[in-house]
Amino acid sequence: MTRYAKPTTIDEALALLGEDRWRILAGGTDFYPAQGAKPFRDNILDINGLAELRGIEETSEHWRIGARTTWTDIVRHPLPAAFDALKAAAREVGSVQIQNVASVAGNLCNASPAADGVPALIVLDADVELRSARASRHMPLGEFILGNRRTALQPAEMVTAIRVPKRCAVGTSAFVKLGARRYLVISIAMAAARLVVENGVIADAAIAVGSCSAVARRLAGVEAALRGQPTKAALVDAVLSAPIDELSPIADVRGSAEYRQDAAREIVVRAVRAALGQHDDKVAA
Ligand SMILES: Cc1cc2nc3c(=O)[nH]c(=O)nc-3n(C[C@H](O)[C@H](O)[C@H](O)COP(=O)(O)OP(=O)(O)OC[C@H]3O[C@@H](n4cnc5c(N)ncnc54)[C@H](O)[C@@H]3O)c2cc1C
Repeated sequence: MTRYAKPTTIDEALALLGEDRWRILAGGTDFYPAQGAKPFRDNILDINGLAELRGIEETSEHWRIGARTTWTDIVRHPLPAAFDALKAAAREVGSVQIQNVASVAGNLCNASPAADGVPALIVLDADVELRSARASRHMPLGEFILGNRRTALQPAEMVTAIRVPKRCAVGTSAFVKLGARRYLVISIAMAAARLVVENGVIADAAIAVGSCSAVARRLAGVEAALRGQPTKAALVDAVLSAPIDELSPIADVRGSAEYRQDAAREIVVRAVRAALGQHDDKVAA
């Protein structure tokens, strides 16, 4: 017989995870569509009673986002400008109704290549806090997501938080999503850019693209091409001529591989310019 449990403390949840196999239920916005009309055969661990897992906290070293924190919580919480890309991504996850219940950790654990939260968190060098009854560990987000619908989560573990190191929560950032329509749409490609500008020069750049590889990727060649560029320089040229070896887009109903590859470069340009407060109408066609 399948079990259903709704613990009210993390310790209780971790003890349950240690004694049986469970599917974790958070906002349910990926969980229920994946389940469809099939009968439930797995035990369900409903984490919606874990108040401790919701909210954003500032510690001496990190910004700590509880696993159950919703996209609406992200939008509403005052955060440094480096989080603007994450806030913009939050506003792009489905509709407002979805954003009100869907959690950040659910987006990461579902491990869809089209998860909008991933590029915006990767440019912040976020890591994932994993806890079991026996241990606690942290993994860089880029290592936690292993592939399409695959993560490094172990059976007795759950994600309890996402942490952003404060040293990376600097600069300005932007997120650009490309979909077949403007609203309530799965990404064809999306880009996040975080830039640190000192004396009119780009001192540091973090750029990531999603939906163009099994896991969203940082673009090292574009980041290198941007570092040291004056913000008034032809940044479009720097992005357009930089090597992008990290992407391996597939063709599907939403677009061809070639279209995705070209579109990715264009939305990176737009994200970079938006992070610098420059407007799209100045972007070369
Ligand atoms: C209509 C609609 C539109 C959508 N549009 C978008 C979109 O535009 N962009 C986008 O990125 N996503 C979109 N989504 C997907 C979804 O809303 C997000 O991925 C959301 O963040 C998932 O969070 P959740 O809390 O609902 O996760 P759930 O559905 O509860 O769980 C998702 C997965 O994560 C696991 N899980 C959840 N929390 C934990 C935890 N703490 N530890 C370990 N495992 C955990 C669950 O077991 C499950 O496998 C959409 C969904 C719907 C229904």
